[in-house]
Amino acid sequence: MATADKSASVVVNTDNLNVRSSPGTQHEVVTQVHSGDVYPMIQQQDKWVQIRLQDQKGWLASQYVTIQSYSDGKQSKQTGKTITISKEKVHLRGGPASTFDIVGFAEQGAEFQIISETEKWYEISNDNLTGFILKDILKSQQAESNNSIKNKTIVIDAGHGGRDIGAIGANGTYEKHYTYQTMRELKHELTMLGADVIVTREKNEFVSLASRTSLSNLNQTDAFISIHYNSFPKLPSVTGISAYYYRNQYQDLARYILEEVSKETGVRNRGSKFADYQVIRQNLKPAILLELGFISNPEKEKLLQTNAYQKKIVTGIVNGLNRYFKNEP
Ligand SMILES: [Zn+2]
Repeated sequence: MATADKSASVVVNTDNLNVRSSPGTQHEVVTQVHSGDVYPMIQQQDKWVQIRLQDQKGWLASQYVTIQSYSDGKQSKQTGKTITISKEKVHLRGGPASTFDIVGFAEQGAEFQIISETEKWYEISNDNLTGFILKDILKSQQAESNNSIKNKTIVIDAGHGGRDIGAIGANGTYEKHYTYQTMRELKHELTMLGADVIVTREKNEFVSLASRTSLSNLNQTDAFISIHYNSFPKLPSVTGISAYYYRNQYQDLARYILEEVSKETGVRNRGSKFADYQVIRQNLKPAILLELGFISNPEKEKLLQTNAYQKKIVTGIVNGLNRYFKNEP
């Protein structure tokens, strides 16, 4: 007896299971499959099932596999979860593996119910179409829709530089080096997210406050972030971060970034305040100035030199920018 079911799949339950050219142990072994693998089923014969592999067919002893049928997709339990396709023509397959045939294309904007799932695939269904979609496709479309930074122009201003060393740390380190390090890391992250990043200085050089500001004003700047570190040698125990704005409408930008950096680093949030600094006063674009830590605190000074801690700061700034662009209070 032979049955053919286009929408059934075979789940392998053991490792190193032989795939044979015909049904029977006397036939040639063409390859092996492993526990958890899923293949489209072509047909069943006695104690054997025929499966489709990437570029060939083969037979497995049915005692080592589970056969799943997806033909009753619409009757199977619904998870109540729905998804919306945000890419153009995403293909759906007949089963949860790339070896299954493509059964149709989900159009951009189409909504589906999730009716079942495996480790890597969702079975989805709507009035027009039932099929399997790779979870990674949905993950990447979600990451994209969460990214409001793409195509934004962001000016990063690494404070000080050249003969202007900025504040001096507990062990004699210079603020200008820390601001540069943060700028480099932030530039990298924002560029990866698709932002147009402009920096006010590319290296350890002196750049006037006026030219830093005009760089922001002359471009289609969506955010200007000036990076600084504090020093208060008289009280080395002082720590914390703060943010400054000149125009009230950029208060949120300062607050969001500060909250997010504090969340990432665990550092005390000293609040966002009005301040009359030239780079934000003469700036006609959304501009803030960040004081991202006290290098007069010996522990923080050491911590700020590590890449891991710089990455935390940068993650916070990126999350704060995302909140600001998405207008999420
Ligand atoms: Zn400074």
